[in-house]
Amino acid sequence: MEYYVKNTERKGVGLYAKKYIPAFSVISDIKYIREVTKDNPLSESEKHLHDHQHYWPDGRIFIVHEPECYFNHSCNPNAYIYSAAGKYFILAKKDIKSEEEITVDYEIQTTGFDVAWECKCGAINCRGMHTWDIFLLPTKIIRESLPFLDPWFAQVHGDKIREILNQALHG
Ligand SMILES: [Zn+2]
Repeated sequence: MEYYVKNTERKGVGLYAKKYIPAFSVISDIKYIREVTKDNPLSESEKHLHDHQHYWPDGRIFIVHEPECYFNHSCNPNAYIYSAAGKYFILAKKDIKSEEEITVDYEIQTTGFDVAWECKCGAINCRGMHTWDIFLLPTKIIRESLPFLDPWFAQVHGDKIREILNQALHG
């Protein structure tokens, strides 16, 4: 692995680059503990895993395995999530320096789930309170995010994305 788990006072547990990672490298895949369903929700002993859930474009929810569950969110991330045939990967969005935290913008891969978090990413462009719904973000941020969207997400929610692009084109 090109990263390791580190517990910092300021940000809690995060994943940090062991060495320089060039842009567009495949950093990791994402493995899951199990699917969370109505019949099999988070148990009392799993409540602490609430923030480790991956919300799939088709509405399914999975608990992410360690250590991949420690990729933190940033509003100015250096990595992004990409899926191929239902398998998820984390790729470097830009060159990542040794000892730099590896972060992902989770909000751009989510819509329609009832979740809200206060962001503490510390980025200059931090968006503050998250509703975890890309379609509630300013359209400029949506357009900037398009190249880094999960293609499956973009396909499932293509109607909404097309509407946003059409509106930008035709005012
Ligand atoms: Zn932020």
